[in-house]
Amino acid sequence: FDQRDGWIWYNGDLVPWRDAKLHVLSHGLHYASSVFEGERAYDGVIFKSREHSERLRHSAELLDFEIPYSAEELCAAKALCVERNGDPNVYVRPVAWRGSEMMAVAAQNATIHVAIGVWPWPSMFDVATKMKGIRLDIADWRRPDPACAPSASKAAGLYMIATMSKHAAERKGYADALMLDWQGRVAECTGANVFFTRGGQLHTPLADCFLDGITRRTIIDLARRRGIETVERRIMPGELPSFNECFICGTGAEVTPVSEIGPHRYVPGNISRMLIEDYAAEVRPGAAI
Ligand code: PMP
Repeated sequence: FDQRDGWIWYNGDLVPWRDAKLHVLSHGLHYASSVFEGERAYDGVIFKSREHSERLRHSAELLDFEIPYSAEELCAAKALCVERNGDPNVYVRPVAWRGSEMMAVAAQNATIHVAIGVWPWPSMFDVATKMKGIRLDIADWRRPDPACAPSASKAAGLYMIATMSKHAAERKGYADALMLDWQGRVAECTGANVFFTRGGQLHTPLADCFLDGITRRTIIDLARRRGIETVERRIMPGELPSFNECFICGTGAEVTPVSEIGPHRYVPGNISRMLIEDYAAEVRPGAAI
């Protein structure tokens, strides 16, 4: 991934992709003092760029460091990076981490670095393929108690169990894993939030120990505009057979229906299709607000 043409925005400058390096004794690498974002540009415009910039800054604050760029500066840097790389439809990955001046648990004086990379990440499938749904395993790892981890931060360290869960699921032939939380409630997938339908309503877990995704909030809003109410509540795995449709959503996944969760089967239907289409329209620049 490091041997490509293109430009990385790195601490205020655009540098050639291959030269965007950091030192092996970086605090972010050893102690996970690192936060990141995942965004998408559609036709050259990053969807909800400002919200992502603010979330990046907030993620860092939760890890006790401050990003040395304002939300406006981050938005401008991301836009420049998209423009300079030439492809208007890309995934955008800002990352911020503590540098190499201090190599111990304490790192108050380590420099904060920020980099932004962009690359093509096509939407998973066309609508017809998506409507077949993906298969989810149920992960062994659980989302931690918010008293044990900064759950609201998009912190690199929280992805350790996500990668392990995703690998375990893929080894068994599943596309992804549904993770439960520390209390055994349904939480989210390894990189996306989850929704269910029942009786014409959406049901989704309370985002009290995992990321309250920007896509999640967009879906709740789009559903409301269609007159569909979303119930955010505790959902236990025992309820899984009682739902009609299931889909996951996130910047990368967009809206992706689910056909299986472990032994449970779902048939992607009208609500999933409608939200796939509404989301696709919403993310295009110039969409009616
Ligand atoms: N949960 C996790 C663990 C994620 O990595 C993501 C993707 N950032 C999401 C949820 C969805 O967040 P968003 O809609 O803001 O992309």
